[in-house]
Amino acid sequence: MGFIADSLNRIQPSATIAVSTKARQLKAAGRDVISLSAGEPDFDTPENIKAAAVQALAAGKTKYTDVDGIPELKAAIVRKFARDNGLDYKPSQISVGTGGKQVIYNALLATLNPGDEVILPAPCWVSYADIVLLAGATPVFAETTAQHGYRLKPDVLEAAITPKTKWLIFNSPSNPTGSAYSWDEMKLLTDVLLRHEHVWIMSDDIYEHLIYDGLKFCTPAQVEPGLFNRTLTVNGLSKAYCMTGWRLGYAGGPEPLINAMRKLQSQSTSNPCSITQWAAVEALDGPQDFIAQNNAKFVERRDLVVSMLNQAKGLSCPKPEGAFYVYPSCAGAIGKTSASGVAINTDEDFVTALLEEEGVAVVHGAAFAGSPAFRVSYATSKDVLEDACHRIQRFCGNLK
Ligand code: PMP
Ligand code: GLU
Repeated sequence: MGFIADSLNRIQPSATIAVSTKARQLKAAGRDVISLSAGEPDFDTPENIKAAAVQALAAGKTKYTDVDGIPELKAAIVRKFARDNGLDYKPSQISVGTGGKQVIYNALLATLNPGDEVILPAPCWVSYADIVLLAGATPVFAETTAQHGYRLKPDVLEAAITPKTKWLIFNSPSNPTGSAYSWDEMKLLTDVLLRHEHVWIMSDDIYEHLIYDGLKFCTPAQVEPGLFNRTLTVNGLSKAYCMTGWRLGYAGGPEPLINAMRKLQSQSTSNPCSITQWAAVEALDGPQDFIAQNNAKFVERRDLVVSMLNQAKGLSCPKPEGAFYVYPSCAGAIGKTSASGVAINTDEDFVTALLEEEGVAVVHGAAFAGSPAFRVSYATSKDVLEDACHRIQRFCGNLK
C-alpha cells in the first residue's frame, strides 16, 4: 500500500483538462497546434459583469462570506429559477459553490454510500463517473445512440434502475454530444422517474442557454413538478456568461440536501470567491442579450464544422441542438493505419495520431464512455475551425 489514498486509484485525472493542458504545452513549445479540446467559450466575459467585479473590489468586498453564497446572490438565483425555469425555490434551498463542478461534487459526496448506484446516460461528461467512484459508489452507464440523437430512451432508463439506484444525472444540452431534449421527450423520462420514488434526479443545466434552432430548454423539475422534492437543479455561469475562470456554480434543491452540501463545503473551500459572487449577481440580473448574439455565432460554427466533418472519410457527424460540441463517430477509421504508420485501433489512437500528425487536439470518446467517437469543441473562430477541419479531412483521407 502506497502513500496515496486507495480512493485516488479508483479515478482518472480529468481527460478534458488533460488534453487541453497538453495542447497548451505543445503550443508553448512552439508547435503548430489547434486546440478544439477546451470546454469553454472563446468570448470574453461581458463588460457589465467585469465592471461589477471592479466595483466589488473597490467597495472592499474582499472578506469571507457565508459558506454557500451571499444572500444577494441567492436572491438573484431564486429570481433566475423563477424567471427562466418556472421553479419556485426559497433562498434556503440554494447552494453556491466554486463552479458547477464543486456543486456536483458536494451533492454526490454528501449523499453516496458504497454500493449505491448512479445512472449516467452515456456518452456523458468525464467527471460524473469519477466523482461517483471517488465516493465509493458505482456508475451505471445507460447507453444512448447517434440514431436516437444521443437521447436516453425511457425503456433504457427503466432497465437501468435497481433498488440501489440513488441518482440519475441528466445533462441537456449535453457535454459531449450537444444533444438536447424537447419537453415531450423529457416528459417520457420523468414519467418513468415518477414511478421510482427512491431515485433522485440531478439535472446539470449548465448549457441551458446554449440551445439552437428554436428548441426550448426545459428541466426535469419543471416538466414534472412531482419530482421537485427529489431533484437537484444544477447550473453555473461558466458557459453562457463566458466566466469559466471565475469559478461559480449553483443549485436549487431540497433543504436537507442543501444543508449537507454546505456542511461539506465548510470543511473544504468555504465560500466561493467574494468578488466573483458580486459579479454573478450582475450576470444573472443584468442584460442577457449578448447570449443570443453569441448563440448566432455558435450556430454558424456548428453548421460549418458538421458539414466539413461529414466530408471527412470515415467520419459521421450528427448535428446537435445545443452546447458548443459536436461528437462525430470515427468507426470508419478504426482498423486503419495513419500516414506515419500508426495503427488506429481505438478512438484514443485516433486523437493521439491526429494531434501528432496534424496538430489538432480533440478529446477521445472513451473518456466520455462513448466509443468510437471524439468530441470537437467549436468555441473558436470560423477561420480556425476551417483550418482544423481541413487538417482532420486530410488525416482521415490519408488513413489506409
Ligand atoms: N457540467 C458539465 C456538463 C460541464 O461540461 C462542465 C464544464 N466543465 C461543468 C459541469 C462544470 O463547469 P464549471 O465547474 O466551470 O461550472
Ligand atoms: N467541462 C469542460 C470540458 O468538458 C471543462 C473541463 C472540465 O472541467 O472537464 O471540457
